[in-house]
Amino acid sequence: MRTQVGIVGAGPAGLLLAHLLEREGIESVVLEDRSRRYVEERVRAGLLEQGTADVLERSGVGERMRREGLVHHGIELRFDGASHRIAITDLTGRSIMIYGQQEVVKDLIAARLACGGPILFEVSDVALEGLDARSPAISATQAGTRIRIECDYIAGCDGTHGVCRGFIPGGVLTHFEREYPFAWLGILAKAPPVSHELIYSRHQRGFALYTMRSPSLTRAYLQCKPDEDLAAWSDRRIWDELHVRLQGGAKRLEEGEIVLRGVTPMRSYVCEPMQYGRLFLAGDAAHIVPPTGAKGLNLAVHDICVLAQALVAAYRGERSLLERYSERCLRRVWRAEHFSWWMTSMLHRFDGDDPFQERLQLAQLEYVTGSRAAATSMAENYAGLPYEEHGR
Ligand SMILES: Cc1cc2nc3c(=O)[nH]c(=O)nc-3n(C[C@H](O)[C@H](O)[C@H](O)COP(=O)(O)OP(=O)(O)OC[C@H]3O[C@@H](n4cnc5c(N)ncnc54)[C@H](O)[C@@H]3O)c2cc1C
Repeated sequence: MRTQVGIVGAGPAGLLLAHLLEREGIESVVLEDRSRRYVEERVRAGLLEQGTADVLERSGVGERMRREGLVHHGIELRFDGASHRIAITDLTGRSIMIYGQQEVVKDLIAARLACGGPILFEVSDVALEGLDARSPAISATQAGTRIRIECDYIAGCDGTHGVCRGFIPGGVLTHFEREYPFAWLGILAKAPPVSHELIYSRHQRGFALYTMRSPSLTRAYLQCKPDEDLAAWSDRRIWDELHVRLQGGAKRLEEGEIVLRGVTPMRSYVCEPMQYGRLFLAGDAAHIVPPTGAKGLNLAVHDICVLAQALVAAYRGERSLLERYSERCLRRVWRAEHFSWWMTSMLHRFDGDDPFQERLQLAQLEYVTGSRAAATSMAENYAGLPYEEHGR
């Protein structure tokens, strides 16, 4: 088989790349190790920066998001028993969109199938070769048969546990990493959200986040241990803990059947550069942020916009954007890394925190909620800085 761009991974990054390239008349093949059903039902992110929503809208896959997504204009920060609103739209002129990542994935798969573009689900043993040659190749096993796809370029969009990064020769990449001594216990519940906006709550017993996925689905998170035993968390215990940690922040917190629960580790990671020869890494394959700043999916979308634009230019004979792909992405990646680390540090309890540390956190929260300048800085990062012209 031969194609122009071979894409490993049918998450938001891989699917969006295939979609943007298709619109420019560039062929691609997407390879995914899971089933279609699995990727369409995988519940993860749900907060889209305005820039992300604009990209989906402009590229023709925003119709259902416009109808079903919830536009938010602020978030609530809760600490010391009091609630403070960060008025994102008033401060920045921008808004955020609540629309589940799995819905974005469904919309992108539907667009892909509608134009007849190939997605190979349930492949295994993906291997890359010839990354520094003119025509690299991807091989994989599908339904017991080994296939080989020759390409001009390969996009490694296979997430944090993917294999593409591992095919870059040793010594090329520098890895930057930070582990956090806690995780998030996340739930999805059939309960109408009682707050119009997200609530971030700093509490002595640990951080809590109250959010939603639709007018009938509540999503909530509790700071927990990285090796937390889910079996020890009955529905009753989860709701009781949410009531306490949200400190009345969702006063009439509606309880409902918990349909999904899981523990998400917290990690910061960046590899530099995000490219080698004809392989380009994008999204979680190249960087991870703790979910506190809601940046992971949004960064993946930005990488893909930069990569799609660079590939289009390369096919028109101009390769310089492709050569600078990594450099152009990393500026935004590091801004998001800092913001996500900052939000995490300000809102979570760390083992061994002493009263001094606690006062520092509270002083920072009071500044962010009390100073228009500080609130504006937080709001513009949260809603997402505008894409630089070259990143569009
Ligand atoms: C609980 C949780 C909450 C989050 N909340 C937010 C949020 O509110 N906002 C936000 O912006 N981000 C959030 N994130 C992060 C966001 O979900 C990720 O950043 C996003 O999924 C990145 O997209 P991606 O396409 O790069 O990677 P992925 O979505 O991980 O997609 C990679 C794809 O590659 C496939 N794959 C892996 N290995 C192989 C292989 N060897 N061969 C073939 N295919 C392979 C995988 O099955 C997957 O489909 C959250 C994450 C979690 C876990």
